[in-house]
Amino acid sequence: MLIFREMKGLREYVAGQKKKSATIGFVPTMGALHQGHESLFLHSLNENAVTIGSIFVNPAQFNNKEDLLKYPRTEEEDLEMLRTIGCHAVFLPSVEEIYPVKPLMTFNFGYLDKIMEGKFRDGHFSGVALVVSKLFNICQPDKAYFGQKDLQQVTIIRQLINELAFPIELVVCPVAREEDGLAMSSRNRRLSQKGRSQAPFIYETLCLAEKLLKETEVDSVCNTVRNLFDQKPEFTLEYFEIADAETLRPVKCVKEHNRIALCVAAWLDGIRLIDNVIIIS
Ligand code: AMP
Repeated sequence: MLIFREMKGLREYVAGQKKKSATIGFVPTMGALHQGHESLFLHSLNENAVTIGSIFVNPAQFNNKEDLLKYPRTEEEDLEMLRTIGCHAVFLPSVEEIYPVKPLMTFNFGYLDKIMEGKFRDGHFSGVALVVSKLFNICQPDKAYFGQKDLQQVTIIRQLINELAFPIELVVCPVAREEDGLAMSSRNRRLSQKGRSQAPFIYETLCLAEKLLKETEVDSVCNTVRNLFDQKPEFTLEYFEIADAETLRPVKCVKEHNRIALCVAAWLDGIRLIDNVIIIS
């Protein structure tokens, strides 16, 4: 597996692959890899001649300094996992390599970056769009793999690809979960033992909400979920939203939408966890 820390080397590698007409799959990550990331890599390895991964904890997408400092970094284990599954190349740039000077550009996605995550993480999606655009330009992939776990991110990237005409197919992979339903996340490893045992409540509540939505009105399901979180003092609910899975616009009447996403963000143990389920109505 080739490891690139500088853009120059990676650009030359990409040019070589393009010359051979090899299809390129790209999986951007922030490292601390788990089976959720692995599933994205496995999809890419299956569908492309070469797979390039990136590991970069992108400061531009953190609005919380402490979260950035505490973000888990496990480079050796990550590289071992990627070697084992047969990834072809990894880009591991420093912050200075990606941002030699403080970037001036920001992205505005209209309503899309003002709702849900955007409401609580000011500038987050601008930072995501900036680094992903840069990585797309360097790696020039045919396909890019993202997880449904970060549904709003997927929607933003789809918009970015469409509006800037990146010739890239977006592949969205399902949420990988622990046996007890907890969505896998690099942040889970920061949960205490107690927090880890409480965390599956998030997915349990999403499953209950999915069931209730078949029998009750949207507003009543939202109230029930908020009440359930109120009864769990260990959790601080940031949002629970029932939204159209493509546009992320709020859903009022289930029958008017084909795919509906139930999205949640909550704090537990000082760690912010997000999850979602998509239902076909
Ligand atoms: P991150 O390293 O958290 O930025 O995630 C890198 C990519 O992996 C993103 O596209 C995430 O949506 C995806 N991802 C993270 N966790 C999961 C999961 N549990 N299941 C599927 N994809 C995931």
